[in-house]
Amino acid sequence: MDSALHSTKRLGLFCEEKVVLVANYSSAVIAYGDAVAQLENGMIRESKETYAERRRLVEAARSICEAALKELDEHVTAHGC
Ligand SMILES: [Zn+2]
Repeated sequence: MDSALHSTKRLGLFCEEKVVLVANYSSAVIAYGDAVAQLENGMIRESKETYAERRRLVEAARSICEAALKELDEHVTAHGC
């Protein structure tokens, strides 16, 4: 039942799994920020090809962010932490 899950999985003030998921999301956000900054820097002096490549990296970093946030949300919903 639901109550059993809560009593065994709620550990004090924080949930270790949640801490890991938040850290994952946080580093994904930082990586996305870096990818965007590189895209901006490269716009002026780099080739179209490099720009296209950096665009792809930004898109990839963004989906990693979204996936990490989704995972965190799903954990919080399922876990009630
Ligand atoms: Zn949790």
